[in-house]
Amino acid sequence: MAKILHFLTENEIAQKIDETWEMLEEKVKGCEKCPLCNSRTQSVFGEGAKKTELMFVGEGPGADEDMQGLPFVGRAGQLLSQILTAAGIEREEVYITNVIKCRPPQNRVPSVEECSACNDYLFAQISLVQPKILVTLGNTPTKWLLKTTHEGITQLRGKWFDWYGIKLMPMFHPSYLLRNQSRKVGSPRHLTWQDIQEVKAQWDKVRRTREK
Ligand code: URA
Ligand code: SF4
Repeated sequence: MAKILHFLTENEIAQKIDETWEMLEEKVKGCEKCPLCNSRTQSVFGEGAKKTELMFVGEGPGADEDMQGLPFVGRAGQLLSQILTAAGIEREEVYITNVIKCRPPQNRVPSVEECSACNDYLFAQISLVQPKILVTLGNTPTKWLLKTTHEGITQLRGKWFDWYGIKLMPMFHPSYLLRNQSRKVGSPRHLTWQDIQEVKAQWDKVRRTREK
């Protein structure tokens, strides 16, 4: 691969990467690798900046996402956007996707089999974006990527993990914050505000080092 790319110009490499994104998106559109394909309106691939240091991974599409074909556009998504904006992060500057690309019936938690079936797409997206920082939202993407079974999001959130050389931080899922409105010190919303500021600080740091 490296040898072939050595003979391509920057533009040709960029074009190949674009083509790979298109092929991947087409595959997800028509995917029938797990039974969730039977109940979906459409699959939800992901959206955002394709060249970015910061990537967010949620659980899977809900009803609004399934209708619109875009990630995090329902109530939880709106809250996510607000959290990002408050921390000085624009949605368009980051890449956002989910572990599974099709909505589970009644928004149930996806099974291990479904996550496994969909995993190649997520890994391909991470490989193409090549983020320096990955934020997992809630238990499903956190446990899936970190392969933890005992510790849940309450123990894991706000900590940095090394995931194949990428800095990974779990945060509470915005749906959980919708169910927990308190802003008191130590509440999920208060902790999330701290976490996103930590993510922003780390992102600033990564971007500063890149510019040098
Ligand atoms: N919840 C998720 O985990 N992902 C979405 O895209 C929307 C809601
Ligand atoms: Fe394919 Fe993933 Fe949708 Fe299952 S959830 S049908 S693996 S795209």
